[in-house]
Amino acid sequence: MKPCRRCLIDAPDGAALLEAIRARLDSLPDDQKAPQSVYENRLAACQRCDQLVGGTCRQCGCFVLLRAAKRAMGCPAPQPKWTRWPDDPEGIGP
Ligand code: SF4
Repeated sequence: MKPCRRCLIDAPDGAALLEAIRARLDSLPDDQKAPQSVYENRLAACQRCDQLVGGTCRQCGCFVLLRAAKRAMGCPAPQPKWTRWPDDPEGIGP
């Protein structure tokens, strides 16, 4: 299992961390982003998931706000709750 990336950030402050994540989201090219409705469905699944801890997925160590934004990404769980777009066109899983 990969380490929690949050642990590798010096003195993480919630607001500063969120700002850094938003800046990363803003810099993501449009052709790499999942459609907004897919993004929202993915995040809703993450919010219901017991693997979500402090905004980080325990399966992969990713910040879900970032992972879910990338169209080519999928949920890393053994039974994924969402998969890559466009294979999973709604972001609600296989
Ligand atoms: S990416 Fe998958 S395993 Fe990780 S928190 Fe979201 S739904 Fe859960």
